[in-house]
Amino acid sequence: MPVYEFFCRKCQKPFTEVMHVAEHEAGVAECPECHSKADVEKRLSTFTAVTSRKSAGL
Ligand SMILES: [Zn+2]
Repeated sequence: MPVYEFFCRKCQKPFTEVMHVAEHEAGVAECPECHSKADVEKRLSTFTAVTSRKSAGL
């Protein structure tokens, strides 16, 4: 399963959660600090594929 990154605005802390794609589509993970989902937002994870290729040189 992929690892997703989240950020809790309440705690001002980022955290990662291993969750199913369907779970991630449905909503956010619970913050490990305050155990709330209300202030958690999704972050673009490093897992995301980079599609734009920079051609260096020439
Ligand atoms: Zn929190």
